[in-house]
Amino acid sequence: MSSLPLVGHLIGGASVRTGSRSQEVFNPATGVAEKRVLLADKSTVEQAIANAQQAFPAWRNTPPLKRARVMGNLKVLLEQHADELCALITAEHGKVLSDALGELQRGIENVEYASYAPELLKGEHSKNVGPAIDSWSEFQALGVTAGITPFNFPAMVPLWMWPMAVACGNTFVLKPSERDPSSTLRIAELALQAGLPPGVLNVVNGDKEAVDTLLTDPRVKAVSFVGSTPIAEYIYATGCAHGKRVQALGGAKNHAIVMPDADIDNAVSALMGAAFGSCGERCMAIPLVVAVGDAAAEAVIAGLREQMSKMKVGPGTEASSDMGPLVTKAHFDKVLGYVNQGVAEGASLLVDGRQVQVPGHDAGYFLGPCLFDQVKPGMKIYQEEIFGPVLGIVRVKTLQEGMDLIDAHEYGNGTCIFTRDGEAARYFTDNIQVGMVGVNVPLPVPVAYHSFGGWKRSLFGDLHAYGPDAVRFYTKRKTITQRWPSAGVREGAVFSFPSSR
Ligand code: NAD
Repeated sequence: MSSLPLVGHLIGGASVRTGSRSQEVFNPATGVAEKRVLLADKSTVEQAIANAQQAFPAWRNTPPLKRARVMGNLKVLLEQHADELCALITAEHGKVLSDALGELQRGIENVEYASYAPELLKGEHSKNVGPAIDSWSEFQALGVTAGITPFNFPAMVPLWMWPMAVACGNTFVLKPSERDPSSTLRIAELALQAGLPPGVLNVVNGDKEAVDTLLTDPRVKAVSFVGSTPIAEYIYATGCAHGKRVQALGGAKNHAIVMPDADIDNAVSALMGAAFGSCGERCMAIPLVVAVGDAAAEAVIAGLREQMSKMKVGPGTEASSDMGPLVTKAHFDKVLGYVNQGVAEGASLLVDGRQVQVPGHDAGYFLGPCLFDQVKPGMKIYQEEIFGPVLGIVRVKTLQEGMDLIDAHEYGNGTCIFTRDGEAARYFTDNIQVGMVGVNVPLPVPVAYHSFGGWKRSLFGDLHAYGPDAVRFYTKRKTITQRWPSAGVREGAVFSFPSSR
């Protein structure tokens, strides 16, 4: 094994570096491997599960307010360590520092929401449902829960999951992306510093072997997953087959409708950030503009061309960079393949980012922003998730035609409409078959006190991520019916079904 710094696991409150398998972690701006991450084997994951299992009884019985206080402490620590965490994110993911800060802030808001768990866990109570009978529902922790997360939000997506899970009294085993594991692990260390008892949150780095252990071990009661659709589907099927509660959020292909009456200048600015922010590596990114009418298409294209020509592509650490590199060489090759495919399929490449140069970073995974016109629904660049800085324009004649396209697509994560027409916007939000919808808002990512999730093949399971749905996902309802008859009351047996008749 090389002498690169090693990223290990956090189990039972201690750093663990067992296991023989590891892989390199690259800085995408330089193409240089700067660390190695250990890939947990089955026994290491089982050790994490055992620690979580052992920590559960005491943590479940810790008063909710004390559990919530840890979240309050963690929020402060995350704010204090923001620069350090953002530097870790940018060094391994590549996104620009201001974008890393935005991701971290959204994660912190989830920690903040988890600190309201005592309020959210209040049950439901009814007095006198029958003679001297009271009934109530309470929401009990499940036990050991697990999370498996993607590379594109290494700080935020794990914070969608474990803070609410543990605030509800569960313990947790987290398996972050092996491509950019350091910020996730550092946040878990800060959680210990915030007062989370050892074993309540465990982090195992790894790949399929670690994931499969979490999916099949009977001690794990629930699994939250965020990643690509093929893996989400596998996680859902395997976890459910092993008796677990599973929510698995998958990929996306989000369409933005631009109506002829839209404020084009503002729509273009919004589309720039939504298409090229984070190099397009967001599940809520906009890779497709559906322009209603040729005039809207021409106006949007003119605005995009102008703004794209001014975009600065460079390392995420430089304040002047608007867009950093793609995450890995393999992903760079995949995205480049899609651009070539789009040209071969007959779409018209108006802005070609393939030859972008970033001085001093020749080996970095940089791709400039690309713009295709004349994208058609039969094309691969229309159908498949590219997850890169590639924006396509689809031309339609009516709003309904655009909506039919969106509804026919396999994904249903996010969408938006740019318009000044309230009736059109209302018709769109009422009827579109997508889970998160924006009106003149290109990235309608719900805030921490709402829940996040797509429809169709963008989410497998019933409950969405974070927000109120997370409280339901990480707890089991128990309903208790209790009777305390007055002393001396004697009753005979009743054979009819108890009711209020
Ligand atoms: P990915 O599916 O490759 O990996 C996600 C996780 O699954 C990682 O922890 C990875 O180690 C694990 N994994 C990968 N292959 C596996 C296998 N064969 N068996 C078991 N586990 C496996 O996703 P990614 O490339 O890290 O992230 C990008 C994808 O995530 C995109 O498709 C994006 O749309 C999606 N995403 C979705 C949301 C959402 O909320 N819907 C949010 C962020 C990202």
